Amino acid sequence: AHLDRIAAVEGDVHAFLHVSSEDALATAADVDARRAAGEELHPLAGVPIAVKDVVVTQGMPSTAGSKILEGWIPPYDATLVEKIRAAGLPILGKTNMDEFAMGSSTEHSAYGNSHNPWDLERTPGGSGGGSAAAVAAFEAPLAIGTDTGGSIRQPGAVTGTVGVKPTYGGVSRYGLIAMASSLDQAGPVTRTVLDSALLHELIGGHDPRDSTSIPEPLPALVAAARQGALGDLSGLRVGVVTQLQGDGYQPGVLARFQESLELLTTAGAEVVEVSCPSFESALAAYYLIMPAEASSNLAKFDGMRFGLRVEPEDGPITAERVMAATRGAGFGDEVKRRVILGTYALSAGYYDAYYGSAQKVRTLIQRDFAAAFGQADVLVSPTAPTTAFRLGEKLDDPLAMYLNDVATIPANLAGVPGISVPNGLSDDGLPVGFQILAPAKADDRLYRVGAALE
Ligand code: GLN
Repeated sequence: AHLDRIAAVEGDVHAFLHVSSEDALATAADVDARRAAGEELHPLAGVPIAVKDVVVTQGMPSTAGSKILEGWIPPYDATLVEKIRAAGLPILGKTNMDEFAMGSSTEHSAYGNSHNPWDLERTPGGSGGGSAAAVAAFEAPLAIGTDTGGSIRQPGAVTGTVGVKPTYGGVSRYGLIAMASSLDQAGPVTRTVLDSALLHELIGGHDPRDSTSIPEPLPALVAAARQGALGDLSGLRVGVVTQLQGDGYQPGVLARFQESLELLTTAGAEVVEVSCPSFESALAAYYLIMPAEASSNLAKFDGMRFGLRVEPEDGPITAERVMAATRGAGFGDEVKRRVILGTYALSAGYYDAYYGSAQKVRTLIQRDFAAAFGQADVLVSPTAPTTAFRLGEKLDDPLAMYLNDVATIPANLAGVPGISVPNGLSDDGLPVGFQILAPAKADDRLYRVGAALE
């Protein structure tokens, strides 16, 4: 049924870069046979899933939205994909994204943008707009995204889906094509909070192949979602972050946010205001740290190891000239912009002024979180300042595009988990997201509060 739905709407939505029908049908048939034989299966066995194209899948294209990886077929599965396959979830295909996860709209994909199913003239957010659009358009019931600065939560907000960025280290990064290694996390994109909890429990947990993986079991996420669904939040302290509201936020977004705060109060929670002054500098710090790490991570795309290789048209064939020709042809403008920013921020003479200062801001943000979590069990804000913007609207203005992540980025810089849950429609009839943040390793709180709001 999902493959039929993909065939029917994909021409409008363009959520997928690759649809793996045969693979999906074979897995579904295998699950049917095992179920018929009386085998005890995972609760999600047989439920199809779409995977963001930045996650490597054995035998299936994995381009990260870039021409530089066109034609590359990974020889192995990411840990989270191994787990998905072992549990019997048919993989429907790979979803569209901004190239190397750099963007907030999918318009930086080398393979054309995705469309927001709510209004095809608008973006589904980014970078994981393909995963969110696939779930919102009923092409897939579940999807995997990755979130370096908001790429799961912001697309979730603008497509009316649930998106979760787990605690850093909670889901293995083994097999994720790295953008900024100290910020990247994979997580669920679904239509309900309980679905996200089920998927998060499946893909999460310790992995010795990721040195930053947390060597402890996950908290009980499904149980927390079920408890939250009962709607009783008495004793819970909810902190509204002063810096993540007000100027720059659409009135309809703020109105829905206030209504949800009232719902939380009705459910028995105590709502307090908390101040995190360093969040004002989060965006600036992110756009130094993220490009710095990406400029190093992307050095492996040299025209020799993976995918595209372009040789210079004339002159000698040297390693440096092959790299330059390959990267010139294979990387898009946004990727080039960030590699240049990153190498500049890391260069001798500028390192302390830019990268060093950004790391200090990162520490201040972590301290703000620690102080805020002394006053509240969870922090809340609108997920994104506006509803989905029009295709092309921010394409020529990188700073306007970057501003979309103002509320999501602090969590990545501190490594704490966050969820975006649907928060009704703004005055323009488009979905709004409500963000909940919890202390590191307390992902269960996201599900308790998220399910209570559903
Ligand atoms: N939109 C942000 C950026 O462009 C976040 C991307 C992400 O989370 N992958 O960097």
